[in-house]
Amino acid sequence: MNPPVRVLYLAGSGRSGSTLVTTVLGQYDGVFAAGELRYLWQRGEVENRPCGCGRPLRDCPLWQRVRRELPTDRAAAIAAGLRGRLRMRGLPALLRRHRRGVRPVPAHPDDAALADLYAAVARHTGARVVVDSSKLPPYGALLGALPGVELRVLHLVRDPRATAFSWRRRRGLDGDADPELMSRPPVAKAALLWLVWNTVTVRLWADRAPAGYLRVRYEDLTADPEATLRRIAAFAGVDPDGGPFTGPATVRLTPTHSVAGNPSRHRTGPVPITADVQWRHNLSRRSYALVTALTAPGLRRFGYPWRRGGPGPGPAVGSGPAVVSGQTVGSGGSAQVRQSAAAGHEEG
Ligand SMILES: [Zn+2]
Repeated sequence: MNPPVRVLYLAGSGRSGSTLVTTVLGQYDGVFAAGELRYLWQRGEVENRPCGCGRPLRDCPLWQRVRRELPTDRAAAIAAGLRGRLRMRGLPALLRRHRRGVRPVPAHPDDAALADLYAAVARHTGARVVVDSSKLPPYGALLGALPGVELRVLHLVRDPRATAFSWRRRRGLDGDADPELMSRPPVAKAALLWLVWNTVTVRLWADRAPAGYLRVRYEDLTADPEATLRRIAAFAGVDPDGGPFTGPATVRLTPTHSVAGNPSRHRTGPVPITADVQWRHNLSRRSYALVTALTAPGLRRFGYPWRRGGPGPGPAVGSGPAVVSGQTVGSGGSAQVRQSAAAGHEEG
Protein backbone atom coordinates (compact mmCIF):
# COMPACT_ATOMS: atom_id res chain seq x y z
CA MET A 1 0.00 0.00 0.00
CA ASN A 2 1.48 3.34 -1.05
CA PRO A 3 1.54 6.19 1.48
CA PRO A 4 -1.23 8.74 0.87
CA VAL A 5 -0.53 11.59 -1.54
CA ARG A 6 -0.63 14.95 0.16
CA VAL A 7 -2.65 17.34 -2.02
CA LEU A 8 -2.53 21.05 -1.28
CA TYR A 9 -5.88 22.13 -2.68
CA LEU A 10 -6.28 25.81 -3.58
CA ALA A 11 -9.94 26.57 -2.96
CA GLY A 12 -12.12 29.62 -3.40
CA SER A 13 -13.22 31.88 -6.22
CA GLY A 14 -11.30 32.52 -9.45
CA ARG A 15 -8.88 35.42 -10.06
CA SER A 16 -7.50 35.34 -6.54
CA GLY A 17 -3.83 34.66 -7.21
CA SER A 18 -3.98 30.87 -7.30
CA THR A 19 -1.89 30.54 -10.45
CA LEU A 20 0.83 32.71 -8.91
CA VAL A 21 0.84 30.73 -5.66
CA THR A 22 0.88 27.43 -7.56
CA THR A 23 3.78 28.45 -9.79
CA VAL A 24 5.84 29.76 -6.86
CA LEU A 25 5.15 26.69 -4.73
CA GLY A 26 6.19 24.50 -7.64
CA GLN A 27 9.74 25.85 -7.24
CA TYR A 28 10.08 24.37 -3.73
CA ASP A 29 11.83 21.08 -3.20
CA GLY A 30 9.40 18.15 -3.06
CA VAL A 31 6.46 20.08 -4.52
CA PHE A 32 4.77 19.48 -7.86
CA ALA A 33 2.65 22.31 -9.27
CA ALA A 34 -0.05 20.30 -11.04
CA GLY A 35 -2.30 23.24 -11.90
CA GLU A 36 -6.04 22.78 -12.27
CA LEU A 37 -6.24 19.00 -12.39
CA ARG A 38 -10.01 18.93 -12.74
CA TYR A 39 -9.39 20.14 -16.31
CA LEU A 40 -6.82 17.44 -17.13
CA TRP A 41 -9.36 15.23 -18.86
CA GLN A 42 -10.96 17.89 -21.08
CA ARG A 43 -8.43 20.68 -21.71
CA GLY A 44 -5.37 18.46 -21.34
CA GLU A 45 -6.32 15.08 -22.75
CA VAL A 46 -9.16 15.86 -25.18
CA GLU A 47 -8.11 19.36 -26.35
CA ASN A 48 -4.34 18.83 -25.94
CA ARG A 49 -3.82 22.37 -24.63
CA PRO A 50 -0.33 23.50 -23.53
CA CYS A 51 1.30 22.17 -20.41
CA GLY A 52 3.05 24.75 -18.20
CA CYS A 53 6.29 23.80 -19.96
CA GLY A 54 4.84 25.05 -23.26
CA ARG A 55 4.43 21.71 -25.05
CA PRO A 56 0.99 20.38 -25.96
CA LEU A 57 0.05 18.23 -22.98
CA ARG A 58 0.19 14.93 -24.85
CA ASP A 59 3.77 15.78 -25.98
CA CYS A 60 5.06 16.62 -22.51
CA PRO A 61 7.41 13.80 -21.37
CA LEU A 62 6.21 14.00 -17.78
CA TRP A 63 2.52 13.79 -18.66
CA GLN A 64 3.25 11.01 -21.15
CA ARG A 65 4.49 8.90 -18.23
CA VAL A 66 1.53 9.79 -16.04
CA ARG A 67 -1.03 9.28 -18.81
CA ARG A 68 0.17 5.74 -19.46
CA GLU A 69 -1.39 4.78 -16.13
CA LEU A 70 -4.74 6.41 -16.83
CA PRO A 71 -7.79 5.39 -18.89
CA THR A 72 -7.12 8.16 -21.41
CA ASP A 73 -9.48 6.59 -23.95
CA ARG A 74 -12.31 7.53 -21.57
CA ALA A 75 -11.13 11.10 -20.94
CA ALA A 76 -14.14 12.79 -22.59
CA ALA A 77 -16.58 10.67 -20.59
CA ILE A 78 -14.72 11.30 -17.34
CA ALA A 79 -14.73 15.06 -18.04
CA ALA A 80 -18.48 14.99 -18.75
CA GLY A 81 -19.09 12.94 -15.61
CA LEU A 82 -17.20 15.46 -13.49
CA ARG A 83 -19.14 18.39 -14.93
CA GLY A 84 -22.39 16.63 -14.08
CA ARG A 85 -21.38 15.75 -10.53
CA LEU A 86 -20.01 19.20 -9.67
CA ARG A 87 -22.90 21.35 -10.85
CA MET A 88 -23.86 24.42 -8.87
CA ARG A 89 -27.42 23.17 -8.38
CA GLY A 90 -26.05 20.21 -6.43
CA LEU A 91 -24.59 22.52 -3.76
CA PRO A 92 -27.44 22.42 -1.20
CA ALA A 93 -27.43 18.61 -1.21
CA LEU A 94 -23.62 18.59 -1.02
CA LEU A 95 -23.67 20.79 2.08
CA ARG A 96 -26.43 18.72 3.68
CA ARG A 97 -24.39 15.54 3.24
CA HIS A 98 -21.32 17.29 4.64
CA ARG A 99 -23.28 18.37 7.74
CA ARG A 100 -24.49 14.81 8.24
CA GLY A 101 -20.89 13.59 8.06
CA VAL A 102 -21.24 11.57 4.87
CA ARG A 103 -19.34 11.94 1.58
CA PRO A 104 -20.28 15.38 0.19
CA VAL A 105 -19.97 14.11 -3.41
CA PRO A 106 -21.33 10.55 -3.73
CA ALA A 107 -18.99 7.82 -4.93
CA HIS A 108 -18.81 7.11 -8.66
CA PRO A 109 -17.03 4.48 -10.83
CA ASP A 110 -14.70 7.20 -12.25
CA ASP A 111 -13.28 7.84 -8.78
CA ALA A 112 -10.76 5.04 -9.30
CA ALA A 113 -9.30 6.89 -12.31
CA LEU A 114 -9.12 10.12 -10.28
CA ALA A 115 -7.33 8.39 -7.40
CA ASP A 116 -4.94 6.80 -9.93
CA LEU A 117 -4.18 10.25 -11.37
CA TYR A 118 -2.95 11.67 -8.06
CA ALA A 119 -0.98 8.52 -7.21
CA ALA A 120 0.66 8.50 -10.66
CA VAL A 121 1.53 12.21 -10.43
CA ALA A 122 3.20 11.69 -7.05
CA ARG A 123 5.07 8.61 -8.25
CA HIS A 124 6.41 10.10 -11.49
CA THR A 125 7.38 13.47 -10.02
CA GLY A 126 8.70 12.16 -6.70
CA ALA A 127 6.78 14.99 -5.04
CA ARG A 128 5.69 14.83 -1.42
CA VAL A 129 3.11 17.56 -2.06
CA VAL A 130 0.95 17.93 -5.17
CA VAL A 131 -0.51 21.43 -5.60
CA ASP A 132 -3.94 21.37 -7.26
CA SER A 133 -5.34 24.83 -8.03
CA SER A 134 -8.74 23.64 -9.27
CA LYS A 135 -10.41 26.02 -6.75
CA LEU A 136 -13.97 24.67 -7.16
CA PRO A 137 -15.05 23.59 -3.64
CA PRO A 138 -17.16 20.59 -4.78
CA TYR A 139 -14.15 19.13 -6.61
CA GLY A 140 -12.04 19.59 -3.46
CA ALA A 141 -14.75 17.80 -1.48
CA LEU A 142 -14.66 14.96 -3.99
CA LEU A 143 -10.85 14.77 -3.72
CA GLY A 144 -10.92 14.71 0.06
CA ALA A 145 -12.97 11.50 -0.04
CA LEU A 146 -10.69 9.67 -2.50
CA PRO A 147 -8.66 6.79 -1.09
CA GLY A 148 -4.95 7.61 -0.95
CA VAL A 149 -5.40 11.40 -0.85
CA GLU A 150 -4.53 13.53 2.19
CA LEU A 151 -6.12 16.91 1.62
CA ARG A 152 -4.88 20.25 2.96
CA VAL A 153 -6.92 23.27 1.90
CA LEU A 154 -5.42 26.67 1.15
CA HIS A 155 -8.29 29.14 0.86
CA LEU A 156 -7.29 32.16 -1.23
CA VAL A 157 -9.56 35.18 -0.93
CA ARG A 158 -9.40 38.49 -2.79
CA ASP A 159 -11.46 41.66 -2.66
CA PRO A 160 -14.59 40.81 -4.72
CA ARG A 161 -14.51 44.21 -6.47
CA ALA A 162 -11.05 43.27 -7.77
CA THR A 163 -12.08 39.80 -8.90
CA ALA A 164 -15.23 41.12 -10.61
CA PHE A 165 -13.11 43.65 -12.50
CA SER A 166 -10.58 40.98 -13.42
CA TRP A 167 -13.25 38.61 -14.75
CA ARG A 168 -14.37 41.25 -17.26
CA ARG A 169 -10.98 41.52 -18.94
CA ARG A 170 -10.59 39.89 -22.32
CA ARG A 171 -7.90 37.25 -22.08
CA GLY A 172 -7.08 34.25 -24.23
CA LEU A 173 -7.40 30.92 -22.46
CA ASP A 174 -3.74 30.14 -23.17
CA GLY A 175 -2.33 33.62 -23.82
CA ASP A 176 -3.13 36.64 -25.94
CA ALA A 177 -2.91 34.73 -29.21
CA ASP A 178 -5.54 32.19 -28.14
CA PRO A 179 -8.89 32.97 -29.84
CA GLU A 180 -10.74 31.07 -27.11
CA LEU A 181 -11.29 33.51 -24.27
CA MET A 182 -11.32 32.88 -20.56
CA SER A 183 -14.89 33.19 -19.27
CA ARG A 184 -16.15 36.75 -18.69
CA PRO A 185 -19.17 36.67 -16.40
CA PRO A 186 -21.02 39.98 -15.81
CA VAL A 187 -20.04 41.68 -12.54
CA ALA A 188 -23.25 40.64 -10.74
CA LYS A 189 -22.67 36.99 -11.58
CA ALA A 190 -18.97 37.28 -10.63
CA ALA A 191 -20.00 38.78 -7.28
CA LEU A 192 -22.48 36.00 -6.53
CA LEU A 193 -19.98 33.31 -7.52
CA TRP A 194 -17.41 34.93 -5.22
CA LEU A 195 -19.86 34.83 -2.31
CA VAL A 196 -20.99 31.26 -2.97
CA TRP A 197 -17.58 29.69 -3.47
CA ASN A 198 -15.92 31.46 -0.56
CA THR A 199 -18.81 30.70 1.79
CA VAL A 200 -18.88 27.04 0.75
CA THR A 201 -15.11 26.77 1.23
CA VAL A 202 -15.49 28.05 4.80
CA ARG A 203 -18.41 25.68 5.49
CA LEU A 204 -16.55 22.65 4.18
CA TRP A 205 -13.13 23.14 5.71
CA ALA A 206 -12.63 26.11 8.07
CA ASP A 207 -13.14 23.91 11.13
CA ARG A 208 -10.07 21.92 10.09
CA ALA A 209 -7.70 24.81 10.92
CA PRO A 210 -4.88 24.99 11.72
CA ALA A 211 -3.61 21.64 10.38
CA GLY A 212 -6.01 21.15 7.47
CA TYR A 213 -7.11 24.67 6.48
CA LEU A 214 -5.28 27.95 5.97
CA ARG A 215 -6.87 31.17 4.75
CA VAL A 216 -4.74 33.74 2.92
CA ARG A 217 -5.87 37.00 1.37
CA TYR A 218 -4.41 38.10 -1.96
CA GLU A 219 -3.84 41.57 -0.51
CA ASP A 220 -1.71 40.18 2.33
CA LEU A 221 0.15 37.90 -0.06
CA THR A 222 1.13 40.76 -2.36
CA ALA A 223 1.98 43.06 0.58
CA ASP A 224 4.53 40.58 1.93
CA PRO A 225 5.09 37.79 -0.59
CA GLU A 226 8.06 36.01 0.94
CA ALA A 227 6.70 35.84 4.49
CA THR A 228 3.29 34.71 3.23
CA LEU A 229 4.75 31.98 1.04
CA ARG A 230 6.82 30.78 4.00
CA ARG A 231 3.62 30.36 5.98
CA ILE A 232 1.97 28.52 3.12
CA ALA A 233 5.00 26.24 2.64
CA ALA A 234 5.07 25.40 6.34
CA PHE A 235 1.34 24.66 6.24
CA ALA A 236 1.88 22.30 3.30
CA GLY A 237 4.67 20.52 5.15
CA VAL A 238 7.42 21.85 2.88
CA ASP A 239 10.79 23.34 3.91
CA PRO A 240 10.06 27.11 3.91
CA ASP A 241 13.74 27.89 3.25
CA GLY A 242 13.73 26.11 -0.09
CA GLY A 243 11.77 28.73 -2.03
CA PRO A 244 12.62 30.70 -5.18
CA PHE A 245 12.80 34.14 -3.56
CA THR A 246 15.72 36.37 -4.57
CA GLY A 247 14.25 39.29 -2.60
CA PRO A 248 11.21 39.83 -0.35
CA ALA A 249 8.98 40.30 -3.40
CA THR A 250 10.93 38.76 -6.27
CA VAL A 251 11.04 35.13 -7.37
CA ARG A 252 13.03 33.31 -10.00
CA LEU A 253 10.68 30.94 -11.83
CA THR A 254 11.52 27.85 -13.85
CA PRO A 255 8.90 26.16 -16.07
CA THR A 256 6.28 24.00 -14.39
CA HIS A 257 4.18 21.20 -15.84
CA SER A 258 0.87 22.64 -14.73
CA VAL A 259 -2.42 21.77 -16.40
CA ALA A 260 -4.74 24.69 -17.23
CA GLY A 261 -4.84 27.89 -15.19
CA ASN A 262 -4.12 31.48 -16.03
CA PRO A 263 -1.81 32.12 -19.02
CA SER A 264 0.70 33.70 -16.60
CA ARG A 265 1.70 30.17 -15.57
CA HIS A 266 4.06 30.20 -18.56
CA ARG A 267 6.18 33.07 -17.13
CA THR A 268 9.76 32.20 -16.24
CA GLY A 269 12.88 34.01 -15.02
CA PRO A 270 12.95 36.79 -12.42
CA VAL A 271 9.36 37.85 -11.69
CA PRO A 272 8.34 40.59 -9.25
CA ILE A 273 5.26 39.84 -7.17
CA THR A 274 3.12 42.95 -7.09
CA ALA A 275 -0.53 43.72 -6.50
CA ASP A 276 -2.75 44.51 -9.45
CA VAL A 277 -4.83 47.47 -8.26
CA GLN A 278 -6.13 48.72 -11.60
CA TRP A 279 -9.68 48.01 -10.46
CA ARG A 280 -9.42 50.75 -7.82
CA HIS A 281 -9.40 53.37 -10.57
CA ASN A 282 -11.15 51.61 -13.41
CA LEU A 283 -14.11 49.78 -11.87
CA SER A 284 -17.21 51.94 -12.46
CA ARG A 285 -19.15 53.37 -9.51
CA ARG A 286 -22.18 51.36 -10.47
CA SER A 287 -20.26 48.10 -10.63
CA TYR A 288 -18.51 48.86 -7.36
CA ALA A 289 -21.82 49.49 -5.61
CA LEU A 290 -23.44 46.40 -7.13
CA VAL A 291 -20.62 44.05 -6.15
CA THR A 292 -20.41 45.58 -2.68
CA ALA A 293 -24.13 45.07 -2.08
CA LEU A 294 -24.15 41.49 -3.36
CA THR A 295 -21.09 40.39 -1.39
CA ALA A 296 -21.76 42.31 1.85
CA PRO A 297 -21.78 39.27 4.18
CA GLY A 298 -18.46 38.10 2.75
CA LEU A 299 -16.86 41.55 2.92
CA ARG A 300 -17.40 41.55 6.64
CA ARG A 301 -16.28 37.97 7.14
CA PHE A 302 -13.03 38.42 5.23
CA GLY A 303 -12.24 41.95 6.41
CA TYR A 304 -12.79 44.10 3.32
CA PRO A 305 -14.01 47.73 3.50
CA TRP A 306 -17.34 48.74 2.03
CA ARG A 307 -16.27 52.14 0.74
CA ARG A 308 -13.84 52.65 -2.09
CA GLY A 309 -10.65 54.30 -0.90
CA GLY A 310 -11.48 53.31 2.64
CA PRO A 311 -8.79 51.72 4.72
CA GLY A 312 -7.23 48.66 3.14
CA PRO A 313 -8.18 45.23 4.28
CA GLY A 314 -8.11 45.18 8.04
CA PRO A 315 -8.02 42.10 10.19
CA ALA A 316 -10.77 39.77 9.13
CA VAL A 317 -13.66 40.05 11.54
CA GLY A 318 -15.30 36.73 10.78
CA SER A 319 -15.53 34.18 13.52
CA GLY A 320 -13.99 31.36 11.53
CA PRO A 321 -11.60 29.15 13.47
CA ALA A 322 -8.85 30.10 11.03
CA VAL A 323 -8.94 33.64 12.35
CA VAL A 324 -9.30 32.71 15.99
CA SER A 325 -6.29 30.45 15.77
CA GLY A 326 -4.19 33.16 14.16
CA GLN A 327 -4.04 31.28 10.88
CA THR A 328 -5.18 34.14 8.73
CA VAL A 329 -1.90 35.35 7.34
CA GLY A 330 -0.81 38.95 7.66
CA SER A 331 -2.71 42.17 8.13
CA GLY A 332 -1.17 44.26 5.39
CA GLY A 333 -2.88 47.53 4.56
CA SER A 334 -3.24 48.97 1.09
CA ALA A 335 -0.48 51.48 1.79
CA GLN A 336 2.04 48.69 1.61
CA VAL A 337 0.78 47.37 -1.67
CA ARG A 338 3.20 48.12 -4.41
CA GLN A 339 1.41 49.54 -7.41
CA SER A 340 2.13 48.00 -10.73
CA ALA A 341 -0.85 47.68 -12.96
CA ALA A 342 1.19 46.37 -15.85
CA ALA A 343 3.07 43.61 -14.08
CA GLY A 344 0.66 42.99 -11.23
CA HIS A 345 -0.48 39.51 -10.43
CA GLU A 346 -4.22 39.56 -10.61
CA GLU A 347 -4.90 36.21 -12.06
CA GLY A 348 -6.71 33.18 -10.98
ZN1 LIG B 1 5.12 19.72 -19.36
